Amino acid sequence: MEKKKLYIQTFGCQMNVQDAEKMAALLGESGYETTDDPGRAQLILVNTCSIREKAAQKIYSQLGRFRALKENNPRLIIGVGGCLAQQWGDGFFRKAPYVDLVFGTHQIHRLPEMVGHLEQVGGRISATGFCDRVRSLEIQAQPAAGAVTTFVTIMQGCNNFCAYCVVPHVRGPEESRPMSEILREVETLAGLGIREVTLLGQNVNSYGRTLPEGPDFAELIRAIGKVDGIERIRFTTSHPKDLSERLIGCFGEVPALCEHIHLPVQSGSDRVLKRMNRGYASAAYRDRVAALRRACPGISITSDVIVGFPGEEEEDFQQTLALLREVRFDNLFSFKYSEREGTAAVGMDRPVREGVKRERLEILQALQEEHTWEKNRARVGKLEDVLVEGESRNGGELTGRTRTNRIVNFPGKAELVGKTVRLKIVDAYLHSLRGRMEQSGGTDVH
Ligand code: SAM
Ligand code: SF4
Repeated sequence: MEKKKLYIQTFGCQMNVQDAEKMAALLGESGYETTDDPGRAQLILVNTCSIREKAAQKIYSQLGRFRALKENNPRLIIGVGGCLAQQWGDGFFRKAPYVDLVFGTHQIHRLPEMVGHLEQVGGRISATGFCDRVRSLEIQAQPAAGAVTTFVTIMQGCNNFCAYCVVPHVRGPEESRPMSEILREVETLAGLGIREVTLLGQNVNSYGRTLPEGPDFAELIRAIGKVDGIERIRFTTSHPKDLSERLIGCFGEVPALCEHIHLPVQSGSDRVLKRMNRGYASAAYRDRVAALRRACPGISITSDVIVGFPGEEEEDFQQTLALLREVRFDNLFSFKYSEREGTAAVGMDRPVREGVKRERLEILQALQEEHTWEKNRARVGKLEDVLVEGESRNGGELTGRTRTNRIVNFPGKAELVGKTVRLKIVDAYLHSLRGRMEQSGGTDVH
């Protein structure tokens, strides 16, 4: 019998991408297979993000397109999950009456039952309660066929309540996954040909706090470092206030742990950091950066910054620029502050005008471009170990990443996918490097 078709559209972060893979794995057991063509689907799931206003707007325009499909095929089931679904609940039915199912971030495990009900009985379902245990943490996402790298969720939720952030409100309190379960999943992935895992959580540094046996994140990394076949470990995201000496000690000591850390700073001004409820001052952040560089001199450090948080004066912004000049991040993700319903920053005094936010973002990004260029150019002429992930987007070439998380494109044969090759870096761009395999005996492949 021909399988039913499922189309999933995912917005937002890696956590959502992982959730989408879990949805596909779960519904696969109910006779669905995924399709790239929404026009052929009997079930469409939109996995939403609410981190910034722009994300929410994009979701609306996408849903409008699916509405047209439903007009041609009334049996089509449209479901909305993820963070925006969690936040709006049945409110979604008012805003988009053609939606049949709204499911929250703790309800993914119930998808087969809910979809089954809609297929047989019809009607509408909204399920957005929080559970004591997040059942979807137990579901193993299926990596794509031929994948070399993948993500592994190690925890869900967040207890930090940064004043601007919707995550604790839509993902619930922090919950860690037992270490034995994570290790089992990583071993299975290694058996499937995965060579690199990225451990995912909103604040991986506090991993283990909710577990009775209380392993910490450093212990988890050391254990994964011993799994046969796993050559590289990465993780995201780290909160500076919880970055322990034990974790810093893993860099350089656990051979599989890659020399890269994403350590969001958000602002260089202590006044703004305090209003953001980040739990550290800029001096403590600088101190963590220094400790990381002492333990692992070549480490690549990337970060997130928000400009235009309420109360951010020109002087505060200048302090953020000064921090960037001093730390010299390898890369930076920067955002204009966007007010999110339900967060502590709503209604804070001294909001920053949109034009000022835009201007600050441009200045910040121009400065970071200089630093990214400088860091990438410094790689030219060096040898780098690159894990080959597949064909490059332009085709005809291979693509992979250095241990410091830089993309490298180079000419090579497809049989190198999944292998680590030593390449000479011959050119640098803003978003990638160009490499070359040395012809005469100098190239290592393993
Ligand atoms: N848990 C991570 C952390 O603590 O950094 C990441 C959370 S969030 C998915 C990723 C980034 O989005 C944040 O680091 C922050 O810079 C940005 N962000 C979150 N809420 C925002 C908001 N209301 N406006 C603008 N940017 C925001
Ligand atoms: Fe949001 Fe802060 Fe939690 Fe990160 S640590 S998810 S920014 S509340």
